[in-house]
Amino acid sequence: MKIVYQAHELAADGPGVDVLAFGAHPDDVEIGAAGLLALQVRLGRRVIVADLTAGELSSRGESSLRASEATRAAQLLGLTARIQFGWPDGALEDSPANGRAVARLIRRFRPWLVLAPYDRDRHPDHRATGQIVRRSWFLSRLRQLDLGFQFHAPAMLWFYAIHTPFDPTAVVNISEVMDIRMSAAGAFTSQFTESLSAIPGYQPIGTPDYLPFIEARCRHFGAMIGCQFGEGFLSDGPLAISDPQALLSSATARSSGHGGVGKC
Ligand SMILES: [Zn+2]
Repeated sequence: MKIVYQAHELAADGPGVDVLAFGAHPDDVEIGAAGLLALQVRLGRRVIVADLTAGELSSRGESSLRASEATRAAQLLGLTARIQFGWPDGALEDSPANGRAVARLIRRFRPWLVLAPYDRDRHPDHRATGQIVRRSWFLSRLRQLDLGFQFHAPAMLWFYAIHTPFDPTAVVNISEVMDIRMSAAGAFTSQFTESLSAIPGYQPIGTPDYLPFIEARCRHFGAMIGCQFGEGFLSDGPLAISDPQALLSSATARSSGHGGVGKC
């Protein structure tokens, strides 16, 4: 594991972060959750992205290019740091050892929110990453498990969408950071340059059509809550709410007045 980007020095006994977002490959987090991360940074919160692989099996872009793209995306999002585990692309497995390694990172940075790819995504690495993080989310809170850092129980584990869609548990209004969100995804230029004509049939992955696809999905999620752009997340378990009325004051709530879709 190595730190591939850091905006601030990261001491092992330093302050924690608010959000720790895992991806299988550099660009996963930017495809599925960059708006939420940009929004958190805008609110003054600390965010770290951890990629389990370097994406070395990608059909497009060498590892060195993808590394520079990942750094550029981290800068655009205002991340506190970006970490790479260096595990083998195409061979990620949900195992006790991998779960402990990820749990160790969770304990070190003590986030209240953990993000991971949807654990039923059709890509095996995305699916495995979701499963590894789900395992680590439990391991990190076991007091008797010695991982070199004190136990920590993140408040929430949310899955984000890459390929396989889902009905979201929560949709975050990302309208005010949509430009940053799309710039961060677009920073991975090597992943969006293949000519559509070079691919039999229609396949937006790897082509310039993929960015409008991301935008369309944000519009789709946004429309669910009456906002221009949104990002949908699947909570691992029900969301705990003490005061339902407090939801009405959030930026993502539907307005209850005029019968139609509410304003954000
Ligand atoms: Zn991926």
